Amino acid sequence: MPGLTPGRRYQPPFMPFKRQPFKKRALAAFELAVKGPLFGCRMCGNCLLQETALICPMECPKGLRNGPCGGSTPEKCYVDESRPCIWYKIYERSFKLGREALLLEVLPPLDWSKTGTDAWSDVFEQAGKVGIKNIVTGLTSGEGGAVTRTLDSVFKPVRQPDWWQGDAEYHAPKYTAPVSELERRLKAGEFVVAAEVTPPLSINTDKLKQNIKLLKPHVAALNFTDGSSAVPRLSSWACSQIALELGADPIMQITGRDHTRVSLQSSVMGASALGVRNVLCLTGDSMVLGPGPQGRMDIVDIDSIQMLWILRRMRDEGKYLDGREIKNPPQYFLGAAASPFASNMKFQALREQKKVNAGAQFFQTNVVFDANALDGWLNEIAKRDILDKVYIMIGVTPLKSYKTAAYMDRKIPGVFVPKHILNRMETAKEKGNEQEEGLQIALELVEKIKTKQGVSGIHIMAVGWEEIVPRIVKEAGLCNRLGSNADNRKSGQLDELVPGQVTPMTSF
Ligand code: SF4
Repeated sequence: MPGLTPGRRYQPPFMPFKRQPFKKRALAAFELAVKGPLFGCRMCGNCLLQETALICPMECPKGLRNGPCGGSTPEKCYVDESRPCIWYKIYERSFKLGREALLLEVLPPLDWSKTGTDAWSDVFEQAGKVGIKNIVTGLTSGEGGAVTRTLDSVFKPVRQPDWWQGDAEYHAPKYTAPVSELERRLKAGEFVVAAEVTPPLSINTDKLKQNIKLLKPHVAALNFTDGSSAVPRLSSWACSQIALELGADPIMQITGRDHTRVSLQSSVMGASALGVRNVLCLTGDSMVLGPGPQGRMDIVDIDSIQMLWILRRMRDEGKYLDGREIKNPPQYFLGAAASPFASNMKFQALREQKKVNAGAQFFQTNVVFDANALDGWLNEIAKRDILDKVYIMIGVTPLKSYKTAAYMDRKIPGVFVPKHILNRMETAKEKGNEQEEGLQIALELVEKIKTKQGVSGIHIMAVGWEEIVPRIVKEAGLCNRLGSNADNRKSGQLDELVPGQVTPMTSF
């Protein structure tokens, strides 16, 4: 077990594809001999230990480099339950040491040409450029901030190469007119409803089309999952295209799990050219949740924060990741997932801020069953000053049975179902009215969520029970209702919108 890291065991180092010159190999062997026993170093060649409180993030089975996933808990990693969530440990130590601000910097994906090689030669090279005399003066001058500035002059250019230039700042979108119906309604201050439609398992799209037509009049946008729970289905972009043909506004979900940096950029360009205007960036459920045989699980090429950073720059700066200019850049409204009840609300809020800084314009949260506990998370988000920069839609699932409730509580990472709800569903099972009870629970939740300041809507995840969505919308009184989001508060629009007043967008 590495001496200074809470990870459980060594993992094999990444190996270079080609043989390196002797000097590089000797330095790499020396680096591994030092950092292996101390930090469980995997020789990713793009060292981040300084930013991550000296805990190697490559211990994360997903290889995430910008913070925990939505399934993180204080006790364990959901991918490998025999070890702790390394990102939980990184956040815990960083907060304890007062170094949490460092976690906000958006860090680049791996430069795979460096994996398996030493990271020190880059540092030595940069130190040579800064000058040993300047470094010694900076470190010993005693001036306020001089040590940080000096260390940054050496380490920042190494961890933030020219092709990335990540930072910890907020980057407002560089356009004003809404690009989608969803964005338009949110900007108008409507309390919106989005609903998830489960993509079919075959190429028969009859049921999919039926669900889209059924839900379209009741919601602002429709989500299509991208292989959720690592189960292959009809792709999100194909469903989104079908939704466009039927006049609905799709939210195309896209996962880092199933994309490399190349396919991500190609896919969003293609989707944008076809008219898809809402893109939800997710790291993606681990293969461990899928039916198997399990694919490679120990690394993703890009995480959700890196996806947001890349897509925002493509849209607002007209640049591919490699710096090439895009003559006609893609247009989209960028979303991300938020997980109020994973790990620790303070930690999650920091991660949500990082997503907003990187480019997230709206959040759709994991399923929430405790509306009161949501306040803690919203308070943490408010402290991070991002409520007026992002629209928040809270995830709601109507429970179909006690079995589903118990399964979600036990098995779905980042979801917890309070005891009183489990008890209600269990009693309903005995009485034979589980579905009606599940619906009532959902309506009660929506009633409470509607009143929360900073919440702009709900996201209904009916998981194959799409026909219940219109009833939820009607009985919860959600037809084009004005919300309590930030734009609303600013503009003082407090009257209810008249149903039908919202006219469809013509841009898709
Ligand atoms: S819970 Fe998620 S973030 Fe934490 S170590 Fe596991 S995969 Fe990584």
